[in-house]
Amino acid sequence: MKIGFNRPPNTGNEQQHVLQAMQSNKISGDGVFGSKCQSWFEEKLSCKKALLTPSCTAALEMATILIDIQLGDEVIMPSYTFVSTANAFVLRGAKIVFVDIRPDTMNIDEKLIEAAITPKTKAIVPVHYAGVACEMDTIMCVAKEHDLFVIEDAAQGMMSFYKGRPLGTIGHLGAYSFHETKNYTSGGEGGLLIINDTQFIERAEIIREKGTNRSQFFRGEVDKYSWVDIGSSYLMSELQAAYLWGQLEQAEWIKENRLSTWNRYYQEFICLQKNGQLELPKVCEHNGHMFYLKLNNISERDGFIRHMKEYGVMTVFHYVPLHSSLAGRVYGEFSGSDKFTTMESERLVRLPIWYGISKEDVSMVIKAAHTFFQ
Ligand SMILES: *Cc1c(COP(=O)(O)O)cnc(C)c1O
Repeated sequence: MKIGFNRPPNTGNEQQHVLQAMQSNKISGDGVFGSKCQSWFEEKLSCKKALLTPSCTAALEMATILIDIQLGDEVIMPSYTFVSTANAFVLRGAKIVFVDIRPDTMNIDEKLIEAAITPKTKAIVPVHYAGVACEMDTIMCVAKEHDLFVIEDAAQGMMSFYKGRPLGTIGHLGAYSFHETKNYTSGGEGGLLIINDTQFIERAEIIREKGTNRSQFFRGEVDKYSWVDIGSSYLMSELQAAYLWGQLEQAEWIKENRLSTWNRYYQEFICLQKNGQLELPKVCEHNGHMFYLKLNNISERDGFIRHMKEYGVMTVFHYVPLHSSLAGRVYGEFSGSDKFTTMESERLVRLPIWYGISKEDVSMVIKAAHTFFQ
């Protein structure tokens, strides 16, 4: 492959920060860099509390403990998402109720949520696909009416907004990912739990510290710490936080850089959309996380991936809808009819995009794609 699908972002300052963390002799969680990152998020996202975690998966798991998911509870989410969105809830005994997506944004269709609610429903989990916001006003309104929690899976949504509000800060809780495939990384793996409802702050610190009140002890609020609740090991290492800090220093620039690649792809494919040969993502506010094309059907899409491979360009598709997967059939159920989830997922293909991808590489991708449609 001449052009891979992803490269982890690296702005140049990460090495120096990681080295500094190593030399500080404090490399477990919530050190100097960890605290700096958390304060940065609390200010930038104006949220009540931001807690770094080992992954977005871990942040989602914390959220399920915080809202006290019990055996038999139902949780509403799209089937078109990464497995962790569902898995975190299944681990605590929930049944997943999948709702269809909107073909324009690939996000959960907010108009179908109400019909999926039963007396057992406990939460709604909107996923902001490709950093494009779900219709949060409607979702929050439905949640309020039925007394449900909203956990935003904002794994792909850092530095993107809904009506001026950062994604992940609108529901009761939000989760971000710093996996190497996301816009910002903490050295490969990492995540963040956003707490918007203050009732969860104290317990979140305890769950994150293996069920102990160690955070309160370090702040001098209690004179010893002990086991007070269930919990696990949900802190991010200081080395990862140091890497992440290098990215946060360049947060705006990383977004701008991705957006410029995204906009170039868009301009170069617009004529093919006019010819009816493909469909482009809807233009709306986003963070340049993902550029995808939709072809007419699965065989065209698979042909496109093979074609691009011959030209040395790696393109990928996702997700196999969760409701049709082995585990999804056991732990979940589709509410209503699957009008778009399967059909749209089979048409979609993602093009290479990363921070710092060269103009020449982008040109090669565009050229290879155009030869497919000729
Ligand atoms: C990447 C991703 C996750 C998982 O993130 P990790 O940090 O790898 O745990 C969850 N949900 C969505 C929508 C994602 O894109």
